[in-house]
Amino acid sequence: MNVQQEIRAAAADSTGHFDVVIAGAGISGVGAAYHLTKQCTGTSFVVLETQKSFGGTWLTHRYPGIRSDSDLHTFGYRFKPWTSAPIATAAEILSYMGEVIEENALGPHIRYQHKISSARWSSEENLWTIEAIRTDTGEAVRFTANFFWMCQGYYRHSEGYTPEWKAMETFKGRIVHPQQWPDDLDYKNKKVVVIGSGATAATLIPAIARDSAHVTMLQRSPTYFRTGRNAIEIAETLRALQVDETWIHEITRRKILFDQDAFTRKTFEEPEAAKKDLLSAVEAYLGPDYDIATHFTPKYRPWRQRIAFIPDGDLFQGIKAGKASVVTDEIERFTETGILLKSGKELEADIIITATGFNLSANGDIDFSIDGEPLDFSQTVTYRGMMFTGVPNLVWVFGYFRASWTLRVDLVADFVCRLLNHMKDIDARKVTPALRPEDHNMPLLPWIDPENFNPGYMMRGMHLLPKRGDKPEWQHNQDYWAEKDEFPAIDLGDHAFVYE
Ligand SMILES: Cc1cc2nc3c(=O)[nH]c(=O)nc-3n(C[C@H](O)[C@H](O)[C@H](O)COP(=O)(O)OP(=O)(O)OC[C@H]3O[C@@H](n4cnc5c(N)ncnc54)[C@H](O)[C@@H]3O)c2cc1C
Repeated sequence: MNVQQEIRAAAADSTGHFDVVIAGAGISGVGAAYHLTKQCTGTSFVVLETQKSFGGTWLTHRYPGIRSDSDLHTFGYRFKPWTSAPIATAAEILSYMGEVIEENALGPHIRYQHKISSARWSSEENLWTIEAIRTDTGEAVRFTANFFWMCQGYYRHSEGYTPEWKAMETFKGRIVHPQQWPDDLDYKNKKVVVIGSGATAATLIPAIARDSAHVTMLQRSPTYFRTGRNAIEIAETLRALQVDETWIHEITRRKILFDQDAFTRKTFEEPEAAKKDLLSAVEAYLGPDYDIATHFTPKYRPWRQRIAFIPDGDLFQGIKAGKASVVTDEIERFTETGILLKSGKELEADIIITATGFNLSANGDIDFSIDGEPLDFSQTVTYRGMMFTGVPNLVWVFGYFRASWTLRVDLVADFVCRLLNHMKDIDARKVTPALRPEDHNMPLLPWIDPENFNPGYMMRGMHLLPKRGDKPEWQHNQDYWAEKDEFPAIDLGDHAFVYE
C-alpha cells in the first residue's frame, strides 16, 4: 500500500482502545509513532491528526519559498539519513516524512481529519477518554488510552497572529497572513509590503522579490540572521569519498552540533564578539555603505530569539539588487493605498503581508479535565518541559529553539518508551509527576526566562504555559547539549514520579 491508500484505509475505523494515543502527525507525532514501534514493540497506538495529511508545520505553511531555517541533518530524525542540501523546502521535508511513514508501515496507525476536542482522565479507570471530531463528516468519535502523547506543536494551525492596526479596513488592496496563503494571490509586478522580519519574512521576501514590482520589509526592530552556503562541507567531502549515507548523517550531525554548541556558548560568554560575527556576514553582502546599524543590528543579545539561516544570503542579494528594501519604523495606521508610518513616511502597497507570527496554543485547543475537574496547565509545574505535576500518563513534546526541534523529539521518545517499558515491568498503570519534599519551597517561575529567550508569541502566551522551578528536573532548559546526557540518565525511581 502506498501512503495515500494507507490514509484511506486508516480513516475507515475510528473508535477503540489503544495503549497510547498520539496527538498530531507533524515531525513530532510521526517520530513518536516510529519510536513506539521500535522501542515498545506490541504497544497499540493511534495518531489523531486534524489535517488531511501528515507534516504539521510543513503542510500548513504554503507561502512561496517556504523552507527550513535550520539544517535537515539535525531537523531530520537521527534514524533516517538526510541526503540533500541542508536547508530544505517544505516539499522536501514532506517527502522525507512520507518515506519514514511508508518504510515503517506507520500509515495504518494514523487517522487523518480527526480533531481532538477533549481529553478526560479518570483515576477510577486509569484511562484517558479522548474525543475527536471528524472534520470530513462532522461525526464525534471516542477513543480510550492508557497514555496520551501530545505532539500537537505549540501554535494554532487554523489562524496566524495579526495585530490590530488602526484603519486596516480602509486599505483597498489585499492583506494576507503567510499561514493562510491564498492560492490566487497574484503579486506579479505589484508593490508588496511585508510586515515583520522573522524567519517567515526572510524566506518569503527573496521568493517573491523576483516577480513583484518591489518588496519592502517593514520592521519595528531588527533581527539577527546567519548566512552561508546551503551545503555542509564535511557531508560533501564524505559523499565524494563514497561513504555510506548512514555514516554521513551521523558524522555531519555531530559536526553541526559541535559547531552550534561553540556558537551558542559564544553568544552567552562573548555576546559582542558573536554579534560582530553575525553583522560582518551581513555587511559582506550589503557593503560598507548600507545602514546595518539601523536595519540589521538588534538591541538584544544574539540567540534571545531564533536566528534564521539565510542560504546564500538570498535576502541580502535581493536588497543589494534593489528588488527589496528594509524600513525600520512603526505603523501609525493603514491608509487606502498603504501604510502611514510614525515617522510620517508613507509606504505604498498593493498587497500587505503580515508576517507577524503565531498564536500560541499550548494544548492543541483540547479541553482537558482530570477526574471531572477542568485542567489548567498554567497551574502545573513542568517536569523537564515534557510532563506536568498532577497530570497522569501524559507527555508533551516541545522542542528546541536554539537547536533543531527534532533533536528533542528523539530524546523525549527515548524517555517515553523507557517509561512505558518500566511501568510494564513494575505493573504500574499510572505515573504522575509530583514535587518532592525538597521541591516544596522552590520558587515557581514562568515557563521560559525572558532574559534567556523572548519571541513575541511566547511572551504573549506565557501566562497560559506551565510553570518552571529552579532545578533541572523542573525546567525546559532549551539546552540540547545538557539534555542529551541528562535524559538517558533520568532515574525512573525518583520520587518526582508517583506510580500507582
Ligand atoms: C514556517 C516555519 C518554519 C520552521 N522551521 C523550523 C526549522 O527549520 N527548524 C526547527 O527546528 N524548527 C522550525 N520551526 C518550528 C516548527 O514548528 C517545529 O520545528 C516543528 O515542525 C514542530 O513540529 P510538531 O510536530 O511538534 O508540531 P507541528 O508541526 O505544529 O504539528 C502539529 C500537528 O498536530 C496537529 N494538531 C494540533 N492540534 C490538534 C488536535 N487538537 N487534534 C488533532 N491534531 C492536532 C496539527 O494539525 C499539526 O499537524 C518552524 C516553524 C515554522 C512555522
